Formats: sequence, structure tokens, C-alpha cells
Amino acid sequence: MNRRKISILGATGSVGTSTLDLVERRSDRFEVIALTAASKVGELADAAIRTSAQLAVINDPALLPELQRRLHGSGCRAATGRDALTEAAAGEAELVMAAIVGCAGLEPVMSAIESGRTVALANKEALVTAGQLMIAAARRAGATILPVDSEHNAIFQCLADNRSCDVAKLVLTASGGPFRSRSREEMAAVTPEEAVAHPNWSMGAKISVDSATMMNKGLELIEAHHLFGVSSDRMEVLVHPQSVIHSMVEYVDGSVLAQLGSPDMRIPIAHALAWPERMETPALKLDLARIGSLSFEAPDLDRFPALRVAREAMEAGSAAPIILNAANEEAVAAFLARQIGFLDIIRTVEEALTRTSATPPHSIAEVIDIDRRARSMAKELMSEMAA
Ligand code: NAD
Ligand code: MG
Repeated sequence: MNRRKISILGATGSVGTSTLDLVERRSDRFEVIALTAASKVGELADAAIRTSAQLAVINDPALLPELQRRLHGSGCRAATGRDALTEAAAGEAELVMAAIVGCAGLEPVMSAIESGRTVALANKEALVTAGQLMIAAARRAGATILPVDSEHNAIFQCLADNRSCDVAKLVLTASGGPFRSRSREEMAAVTPEEAVAHPNWSMGAKISVDSATMMNKGLELIEAHHLFGVSSDRMEVLVHPQSVIHSMVEYVDGSVLAQLGSPDMRIPIAHALAWPERMETPALKLDLARIGSLSFEAPDLDRFPALRVAREAMEAGSAAPIILNAANEEAVAAFLARQIGFLDIIRTVEEALTRTSATPPHSIAEVIDIDRRARSMAKELMSEMAA
């Protein structure tokens, strides 16, 4: 069997290392072409050597000499810069795991799509900011986008060969995050440590904070809208604290299909890596008798306004999702750096949405321009709040 050629963008992150774990267990199935990282040069070099990658790209140019030193004699080329990232995304690999966090991943994802690659997409911010452009580019280039985000992967599996016109609605499940039962007053004082301690999933810091505000579910509604072409009125969020049902599809006849599994990202990642086949994973098998019961509740939009704000941005369309995402990225970074409080995150996002003016973007360059302007607006707002 020919090995599937794969590149991993964001190889040192949570999704990136889970991907490496699966790929390294099955070196008979996968050949690693390129790995990229922002700054964890030691981890990047180790992974590149272990997997015999051809190319390792570090985002921080100051770290290139160290990467070169670590890779010396390994046969793996060290590189930095935009062209190198494009080469990792659109070079020899057939399958590209897009696992960079934030809008920073947008350009390489677009390169992979435009060159017709199969893209396993974890990087939801790319879809949130440029969904329409990405889906149109994928159609033009014949690229396949396989959703890795657990909810979207679940929906993708539940849709299977059914006709999209028979879908009544999508139900995205949400764990509710670490503050599911906290009041607004209690949330005002939470620390970054409490916010990143997710009850079910182990993830990067940014998405963990997004889960705590429930902005993550808001971004996921926008992601689902682009991936599956479903409008806002046919998408629902359901809080399900055990994270066993990863999402559901309701059909016009009243049938509801759900995908279940332990909360381990290696399951949706493996689904995308092996698609249309399946592969084994070391994830715990689901033991429903031990879990005993599953519970559900409606989301509380008063305590978690991010969900409402994100839905409004999706419905407004145009530049609103870009501004939402950019302001959120900046505010989450400021919260993690202890510069603003937890509730200031959504305040910043809402305010940035009303104060940033923009016209609908027609190109990735325009998306990036709106993103940049929304980030500076968010920073300005946060320094006003601090003053
Ligand atoms: P992470 O912070 O653990 O890792 C991010 C990766 O991106 C790292 O390898 C980092 O080096 C790289 N990176 C960061 N900034 C960069 C930049 N400016 N340029 C180039 N590379 C950069 O994040 P994560 O939790 O693995 O999440 C990655 C993406 O997957 C996010 O979009 C997230 O929303 C999505 N996702 C993650 C999970 C999860 O379980 N972690 C689940 C669903 C979706
Ligand atoms: Mg998710």
C-alpha cells in the first residue's frame, strides 16, 4: 500500500501532537513530508527527526539557526518565513493537517486548498474569518475539506450519504466548559488557570478559554454554517456536560443521528487521517454502562453572551465574523496575560463589533486587512478599559 503523504501545520500544539501520535504509530500508512511550529524549536526538531520529515518550518526567524543546528545531519531541511510555510502546506503532501491556532493559519490553509490538497481542518478561525472564500476555492481547485473539530467531524459522519435537503437541523453539543454552573459575579473573578482547566478535553490555551466563555461554540456555529451550508435558524446548541455525544443531525422525518465516543481528539483526527477508511486509535473505548447517564440542558445566553454575539455576527455576515474573531483572539491573549478580566473578553468583542467599520471582503488580503484593523481596535478598547 502506498503511504499517505502528510504535512502537519502546528505540529507542536495539542492537535498537532495528537496527530503525530497517530501517524507515528502507523508509519506503514503515513509518510511525513513537513512539520511546522511557531516557536517550540526543540519539539519541532525532535518530531522531524523521529518521523524522518523532509522539511521543518519554524515561524520565529530568530530560531532558525537553532533549528538548523538541531537538524544538522538528519536529512531534514530547516526553514522559516512565508514561502516555507506555503511549501509545507502546498508542497508534496496529499493531506494537510491544519492545526495552527488563530487567523495566523489562514494563508497556509488557503495555499493547501488552492493547490487541491485534502485538508484536515482543525483551525476553525480560518473558516470563521474566510469561510466563503475557502469553500469557493475548494470547489474551484477540487480540494476536500475534512472537519477535525469534534462536533463538525461528528456531523460529517452523521450526514454520510444523506441528502442535505433532508436535513432539518444540526445540533452542536457543548460541554458548557469549566464555568457551566457559575454565576456572572463568580465569573468576574476567575483566573486564567481556572479558565484553561477544561473538565473533559485537554486542549491549547486559546480554545480552552474560548470553551470557558462559550465563544468556542459560537465560532463552531459559524464553522458549521460554512462547512455544511446550513443557515442559523437550522442550527442549535445543546449543553451536554459529559461530552459523549459529539453532535447530532436531525432529519425531516424526525430521525436523529448522533456520533458518540470518548472525549479524545485522536478519534476525529484519526477519522480525517484515514478517511474514507478507518484506523485504530489508542483512545479509551466508550463504556456507557460505566458512564450510566447522559444529561442535557439548554445554553444560558445571559451567563454566556458570547454564544449570542457570535450567532449575531454569523447572521450579519460580511466582515462581522472577522471582527468577532480578531477581537476575541486579542482579548483572550490579554486575559491569559492577566491584563483584563474574564468578563472583559466579551465586552471587548461586542464593542469592537460596533466600532470597527468594514465592507464585505472579496479576497484573503482584504480579510487580513480587516483582521488587522479589528485587532488594533480591540487593543485600543482594552487600554481604555484599563485606564
Ligand atoms: P495549540 O496552541 O496547542 O497549538 C497551536 C499550534 O500552532 C502550535 O504548534 C503552534 O506552534 C502553532 N502556531 C501558533 N501560532 C502560530 C503562528 N502565528 N504561526 C504559525 N504557527 C503558529 O492549539 P490547539 O489546541 O492544538 O488548537 C489548534 C487549532 O485546532 C485551533 O484553531 C483550535 O480551535 C482547533 N481545535 C483544537 C482542539 C483541541 O482539542 N485542542 C479541538 C478542536 C479544534
Ligand atoms: Mg469543538
